[in-house]
Amino acid sequence: MRLTALAVALTALSAPALADEVNIYSYRQPELIQPLLDGFTEQTGIKTNVAFVDKGLVDRLKAEGARSPADIILTVDISRLSTAKEAGVTQSAESEVLAGNVPENLRDPDGHWFGLTTRARIVYAAKDRVAPGEVTTYEDLAAPKWKGRICTRSGTHVYTLGLIGAMIAHNGVEATETWLKGVKANLARAPEGNDRAQVKAIWAGECDISLGNTYYMGAMLDDPEQAEWANAVRLDFPTFEDGAGTHVNISGVAMTASAPNREQALAFMEYLASDVAQAIYAAEVSEYPVSPTASATVRVAGWGNFTADTESLAAIAANRAEALRLVERVDFDGAPGSGG
Ligand code: FE
Repeated sequence: MRLTALAVALTALSAPALADEVNIYSYRQPELIQPLLDGFTEQTGIKTNVAFVDKGLVDRLKAEGARSPADIILTVDISRLSTAKEAGVTQSAESEVLAGNVPENLRDPDGHWFGLTTRARIVYAAKDRVAPGEVTTYEDLAAPKWKGRICTRSGTHVYTLGLIGAMIAHNGVEATETWLKGVKANLARAPEGNDRAQVKAIWAGECDISLGNTYYMGAMLDDPEQAEWANAVRLDFPTFEDGAGTHVNISGVAMTASAPNREQALAFMEYLASDVAQAIYAAEVSEYPVSPTASATVRVAGWGNFTADTESLAAIAANRAEALRLVERVDFDGAPGSGG
């Protein structure tokens, strides 16, 4: 009898403890998130293990199935978060902290993913060839005054598809197709390279404006070679003609469907949404915190004030298949002179 009682007591003691750790699959570079992991462990005593997965994160989770050790996905861009949800590798996380700190348009309506930081997709403009105020709306990028002056990365990249998806949300498919044709007609060269390569092209005089994410300004300024490119440009924040603000996307977090350590995973997600962690993370990646009570760094804030579009990112993500069809239909990545 005494032995049974002891066994029951031991079970009762060990049941809620689980493994005091949380396992993270991260698309983001380990060094970018290390300060967050340290802060979390310091605050909660929960250990973190990180696997850096830059490609095939969803496929890996699908292959591992219920035996996956992963509790958490940390990734960037609404398309990747939406894809993970649609693939069935995430689960809903119910939390007042998350719902309270993450604005509604920056989280999944079903609680499968939550934005942690935002990045605006804006215009990099040549300081010496584009006057302040010349860049106005996204729609205006199709105007003839920009002919031969715009550089951009591929239309099929998730960043571009996000912006086109937002344009569809605001103006509808037909107007967006016309717009996309107009932007293509204004390109200085066929889309190639990443966001920073476009700024380099501005610096080299190949084009006057480019589309890019805000945080690359930080990345370029921190790089001895690229700082020169960064210093040649100014960040201009276009808006939509209907009065909506600047297009933003997110980096975000989701709990995996098979999370072995759900309690710890939720604690980690709530930590990431806290103002302390929001400030650390936003500073590490030169982005904007999602929590309205946390602040961007002085450097990031100095790139310009803007009002973010409040359109639901879930709605924007739902347009990405249509956005890709438009990119293909207008042959956006083809030679600028060619028809589409
Ligand atoms: Fe990026």
